[in-house]
Amino acid sequence: VKSKFTHLTKEEPDPIIKTLTQYHQDQSPNKLDVSIGVYKSPDGLLYTFPSIIEAKEIYHNEKNYGHNYTTMSGIKEFINGSQQLLFGKDVITSDGEKKIASIQTIAGTGAIHMGLLFFMEAGYKNFYLGLPSWSNYIPMIETVGGKVNTYEYYNTANGEINFDTVKKTLIEAPKNSVFIFQTCCHNPTGADFNNDQWIEVVKLIKQYDHLVLMDTAYLGFSSGDLIKDSWILRYMYEEAEIEFVVAQSFSKNMGLYGERLGAVHVIVQDENYVDHAQSTLVANFRHECSFAPSFGARLAQIIFENDKLYQQWTKEVNQVTQRLQNLRQLVYQTLIKLETPGNWKTVIQQKGLFWYSGLTPQQNDRLISNHNVYSTSIGRVNIAGLNEQNVEYFCKAIDEVVRHN
Ligand code: PLP
Repeated sequence: VKSKFTHLTKEEPDPIIKTLTQYHQDQSPNKLDVSIGVYKSPDGLLYTFPSIIEAKEIYHNEKNYGHNYTTMSGIKEFINGSQQLLFGKDVITSDGEKKIASIQTIAGTGAIHMGLLFFMEAGYKNFYLGLPSWSNYIPMIETVGGKVNTYEYYNTANGEINFDTVKKTLIEAPKNSVFIFQTCCHNPTGADFNNDQWIEVVKLIKQYDHLVLMDTAYLGFSSGDLIKDSWILRYMYEEAEIEFVVAQSFSKNMGLYGERLGAVHVIVQDENYVDHAQSTLVANFRHECSFAPSFGARLAQIIFENDKLYQQWTKEVNQVTQRLQNLRQLVYQTLIKLETPGNWKTVIQQKGLFWYSGLTPQQNDRLISNHNVYSTSIGRVNIAGLNEQNVEYFCKAIDEVVRHN
């Protein structure tokens, strides 16, 4: 039979999938995966937060949520909890003051998609993205028909943000452009604006009349404190009073990767138009997904509604961050001990899951071929793939590939 689909091109898979396949086929006992962005415990296995395990027990033993359809904006208690986490209890509960429209989404990716669609529908189609960045942004913007503009966010040579370029881009971009920023733990560079830089960025956003999409995928993993890490969102909302969208993921900080739990929030500074934004979000979600999924949202609801469990969860997020920071120190100290040529300060300066190592694609290839160490081709290392036993092996591998060139 002659197919009607012969004109389709074969799309390349995400390069990380290729790396993971290669990793799984590798028979070496020393093989080490520091590629995909998931938090792993010291045994190298995906970490499940004990608070989530407890929430699951409560879900099964005490609750009877059933399997009915949810609503098209998601599970209300989850939405309230996710808003309160970002903006504080006071902002959310003060009557009639709420300037936030929110819906539950298919994780962070779904939140970004809903945010992009929202901007497109409102007529804001010009998007600005600092590079390097999470690889999905550009195709996602193109999928909704937006225009992608890029600038150099990070300077690999000195391991710092190109802040002058960021400011210049904000000044020169046409009015009503949408800037995509990450709230903390920037993927892939681990380099975030400090508070003073954020204040300058927000000032320019106001002055040059832009909008912002705040991608919030690693909240808590920078300082270890969920509230501290989301400071900039409250600053934008309450002090700067700008209008922006937050794409919030619970994949990493609740470890709910496969449950696809997230939310998108639109900050509308005129309360009279919050309903308009809310109905737009709901309509878009209905046209693509209809009802929101329930299991992950119910687990988050159980945590949000139970003070003890909530405290436990925040403590666990803190412990994860502490471990990441300790591993960073360990990598740094080991490379210094080995006298490996290069600037390794970045590993302790950067925040979150990732270290943007600055290794070249050739050096990364050699890490795989000669040492069975699977990083990503752009030199992004998932710090959580390391532990006290393999750090030395990992650093010696880096030492060898650096000296080889
Ligand atoms: N944004 C960034 C910066 C990410 O790194 C990721 C996932 O790796 C996402 C969004 C999407 O996360 P989710 O798995 O929740 O869709």
